[in-house]
Amino acid sequence: MIARPRPLPFPYRAAVALANDVDDTPSPAWFLEVLRFLNTRAVTPLGPGLGLEVGSTFWFYTDEPTREPFSYWAGTSTRETPASAPLRALWRSGHVDSLHTYGNFTRFGGFRRRHARDAVAEAECHGAVFRTWINHGTGHDFQNFRTGFGDLPWLEDLDDRPEEYHADLTLDHGVTFAWLGDVTPVPGQERRLGLVEAAGPRIVREAFGWAGRALARRLAYRDLLRGAHNYDLYGNRLLWPVRLRDGRGVYRFVRYGEFNDGGADSLARTLSPAKLDVLERAGGWSAVYVHLAQSPNADALLPPEAVTALRDLAARHERGSVLVTTVTRLLRLRLAVLHVDARWEGEGESLALVLYGFHDPLGALDRDPRSPEGLAFELPESHQRGQDLPLPVARGPHGDLAVGEHREDGRRWLQIAWPRCVFPEAEVDAVLRSWRRPV
Ligand SMILES: [Zn+2]
Repeated sequence: MIARPRPLPFPYRAAVALANDVDDTPSPAWFLEVLRFLNTRAVTPLGPGLGLEVGSTFWFYTDEPTREPFSYWAGTSTRETPASAPLRALWRSGHVDSLHTYGNFTRFGGFRRRHARDAVAEAECHGAVFRTWINHGTGHDFQNFRTGFGDLPWLEDLDDRPEEYHADLTLDHGVTFAWLGDVTPVPGQERRLGLVEAAGPRIVREAFGWAGRALARRLAYRDLLRGAHNYDLYGNRLLWPVRLRDGRGVYRFVRYGEFNDGGADSLARTLSPAKLDVLERAGGWSAVYVHLAQSPNADALLPPEAVTALRDLAARHERGSVLVTTVTRLLRLRLAVLHVDARWEGEGESLALVLYGFHDPLGALDRDPRSPEGLAFELPESHQRGQDLPLPVARGPHGDLAVGEHREDGRRWLQIAWPRCVFPEAEVDAVLRSWRRPV
């Protein structure tokens, strides 16, 4: 008998991930302090920590270390920086889970395929896999997919491969999800828009804007944009498969927010009580567009209105209504819910949930051992009547899966474990202490 999962692990009804672009991060210490505030319950300069699960992007390189001083390696070299060791700890824990491209090359350019090769080798040497890619920057950031040369294997008239091409290395490494510029003002994707909401002036204006820009772009770049799709605001999907220009597939995802309002203080608007109410009521999923280090008051770690919004989000998470997790986990979970192939087999005490794998269009989930995490299945009627029957086991392609039981309204559910990312608190604290010590 086919088993279909609940949209989210218990007890949540909606899901949010902060998708932070690292632009303008003033120092490694700032970065660690902010992640510590978001992910632990420690006493921090912003008050008690929120105890959420919030990740971030990062950069391997920066072409302008004075203005963008936060990178894994020094400048565009492969020399370590003070950020290297703590970043490795955060790769391992899953908190630094996304590439905001390989580095900041916004000012002088200069990204080459070898930068990608060195970065991937470094990640793999430390057992890290980045599954999410987020385009960054301007015309100098040639490594971007679609808008740069990152996914362009050859130029027709030159019959030559651009030096910046890296999509083969990057996707072979494990990148599965890519943000290529799509933003929506709708809180909560993967749900139908309400009538009033869909007809609201904000949405209608945005839809016209998209259509207008799409038309203009299509006229201007007829060849380049063949096969490129524009975000369908009314379809309101969180992610969908696309082909990059070298023919490889990724899941393109949309972020929730406003292009021109992506600083830390924008959280007061994107995560306002009214917006979170909509998201919660409608059961949506959102990756929130934000640059946590872009703030009107440079002295505070985060602007007070952002902290207030984040505390509200944390309260909803605590109440069990909104799941807060990293971008990679959010996207993977959504994909897994849609494409899992699971069946109940056997009966009585020998009933088992057998997870055969996933049928996602790009076959990405079967390559990722963490894909089954958080899937919850209602037990068959025999086990609803037989409340004393033991909880069935769950078998995955790689062996038995850790499961728990959940009961709601007298119904029994089996849930595959959703283990929290464990923040490397002791390590981060030690690093921060050593930096605070005057030398
Ligand atoms: Zn950026």
